[in-house]
Amino acid sequence: MQLLSVIVPCFNEEENIRDFYAEFLKNASFLDENELSLEFIFVDDGSDDGTAKEVKGLIEEDGRVHLLSFSRNFGKEAAIYAGLKRSKGDYVVMMDADLQDPPSLIPQMYSYIKEGYDSVATRRVDRKGEPPIRSFFARAFYRIINRMSRTEIVDGARDYRFMTRRFVDSVLLLTEYNRFTKGIFSWVGFETKWIEYENIERRKGETKWSFWKLFWYALDGIVAFTTAPLTFAAIMGVLFCVLAFVLIVVTIIRKILFDDPTSGWPSLVCIISLISGVQLFCLGIVGQYLSKTYMEVKRRPVYILKEEL
Ligand code: UDP
Ligand code: MG
Repeated sequence: MQLLSVIVPCFNEEENIRDFYAEFLKNASFLDENELSLEFIFVDDGSDDGTAKEVKGLIEEDGRVHLLSFSRNFGKEAAIYAGLKRSKGDYVVMMDADLQDPPSLIPQMYSYIKEGYDSVATRRVDRKGEPPIRSFFARAFYRIINRMSRTEIVDGARDYRFMTRRFVDSVLLLTEYNRFTKGIFSWVGFETKWIEYENIERRKGETKWSFWKLFWYALDGIVAFTTAPLTFAAIMGVLFCVLAFVLIVVTIIRKILFDDPTSGWPSLVCIISLISGVQLFCLGIVGQYLSKTYMEVKRRPVYILKEEL
């Protein structure tokens, strides 16, 4: 008999745990049909509500339920990593606790896996129920990162994904501290089948992603998957060197031929401030990469467990 691991990252989801569990099992008839057994891995990402208590309640009723509790909030990326590491299944499916990832899609996902795909991923085709400003920045982010990075990051991709063991093991080979899972899933390769569905609003509670949290996450994604900004900084440097060289030559020639004293410091001030702005900007780009490198060389663990059941 083969095993399916269901990984659910949870951060303050006490109201959703039971609903999720019930809804999943309502759609679980395909498990028996395909001789699959099941394990749930709830990863409590340092919740300060009753999330762990709810899961412990489930554990008492159902031996297939497991819990990983973090010592604090390490973020969804860490929760995903911990869940994947703990999973023992021949197949693994990753789902949000808020029922935005409909379990009814799983039989279809499984049938694609049987066809030979190593991962079946989902993307939402619309951004219904999302503030327009957020959609605008999200779209811009995907456009920018896909132009800069060789790893394709699919617009609207969710973390809801069905994977084979060899795909999961490949993902686990990437042990970096700054994890951008959307990129990692694409980077490891293998055949991926994309399923589209319309956005479903979260059942209960509120989204854990503020605008700024998403903004920093986007920046992490760019720094993690492309070094194009560094090249951009270098090109800017070269361009300004060439410009400066031309200006120097022009100034010398003007002095020799026309004995024309350089006039006006306003233009000088403009040029100096422009170029120092560009320099600081480029230094900032370098700093971004340096800070990520700094975090990586510390070799800190991605998460710390408080409890495992
Ligand atoms: N989540 C998490 N750690 C965090 C933030 C979110 O484990 O720091 C979980 C959350 O409990 C949920 C999933 O990640 O199961 C998706 O979060 P959310 O629904 O808030 O994001 P959205 O669907 O709005 O993108
Ligand atoms: Mg959600």
